[in-house]
Amino acid sequence: MQEDLLNSVVKITKNRDVDSLEYSLISTIQEFIGCIEIAVYKDLQIQTELTIERSLRLTVVNSTEYKWQQREIIDSPEPELLSCLRSACIITVQSADGIERRWVPISLQDKPVGAIAIVCNDLKSADQVLLNAFCRIFENYLTILHENERDKLTGLLNRQTFEAKLRQLIEKQVIAQRKISKSEDSRKLKQSSTSWLAMVDIDHFKNVNDNYGHVCGDEVLLLLAQKMRQFFRATDLIFRFGGEEFVLVFEPTNLVSIEKKMNQFMALIRETHFPFVQNMTVSIGMARISPYDFPITVLENADKALYYAKENGRDKLCFYEQLMADNLIEPNLKGPDIDLF
Ligand code: GH3
Ligand code: MG
Ligand code: MG
Repeated sequence: MQEDLLNSVVKITKNRDVDSLEYSLISTIQEFIGCIEIAVYKDLQIQTELTIERSLRLTVVNSTEYKWQQREIIDSPEPELLSCLRSACIITVQSADGIERRWVPISLQDKPVGAIAIVCNDLKSADQVLLNAFCRIFENYLTILHENERDKLTGLLNRQTFEAKLRQLIEKQVIAQRKISKSEDSRKLKQSSTSWLAMVDIDHFKNVNDNYGHVCGDEVLLLLAQKMRQFFRATDLIFRFGGEEFVLVFEPTNLVSIEKKMNQFMALIRETHFPFVQNMTVSIGMARISPYDFPITVLENADKALYYAKENGRDKLCFYEQLMADNLIEPNLKGPDIDLF
């Protein structure tokens, strides 16, 4: 038994991505506890409203047959699941026939982000201990995977995760559109149908390093990253892409709102007193993201707009589509200039 347990921990921690980690967790719980059903739920945090996805479910059909089900959005989540996510506490319900349903919260940085739900015949206390331990191992490992996605200096997402995160966001966009189209308001659908990508680059940052040294430069980068985190929504993705270059990905909104938001951000940076820098400014290039774009194409478009902003005075916000419409830049005809990694 002890050896089996150790092997199961080895199996869980061998994974390098969340999907296979979930698969290992569920098969381990099934192996050691033996349930009727086990599922992983996640709060997708789409536009700050609660959207629950069941990312994986195992149902035991009989002693030799299992059924696996992949991702599915849950339109009406069970109230017990919602209270588990809200309270970060284990919720248990036992029916008259002895069947027990249990929801165990999964938290990242002390915030519940999902839950493991099991259905089984009367969970003994030794099994409860085991289940909690597996869920905590899962949670710890999820934290490590989460930290691997982050830039060490600023804590923002790193460049290596960009493609996967953008793909997830586009998937969310499609789900959100389906939700809106179901809920009749086609005007809302039109307005919210575009996500945006911004490439933000500090103007004349080299001067800070040259005049005050790299450590002082790092402090300025750290403060800027904090400002970005405070200013933008928790659901917007913020990446540190290179030294003093950041990429932001916004959930669907219209052009007027995003333009206003970015202008407010530029004003905030102008007004902020950064150490060692007088009058710090940023230049921003923006591009639309539509569900069928390749990440590299959107990046290149934003990069072109950023280049234009730099060439035309800096401390500027430029939109790729607007520059194209005004014939101020040429479309990209040659191969990609940007490396994703
Ligand atoms: P521009 O307005 O054209 O963007 O000018 P710039 O000086 O900001 O841009 P340039 O690309 O010429 O220089 C970027 C500088 O960023 C070079 C390097 O000294 C600095 N840098 C890059 N990574 C880091 C980092 O991790 N820490 C610090 N302190 N500086 C960095
Ligand atoms: Mg720069
Ligand atoms: Mg740069």
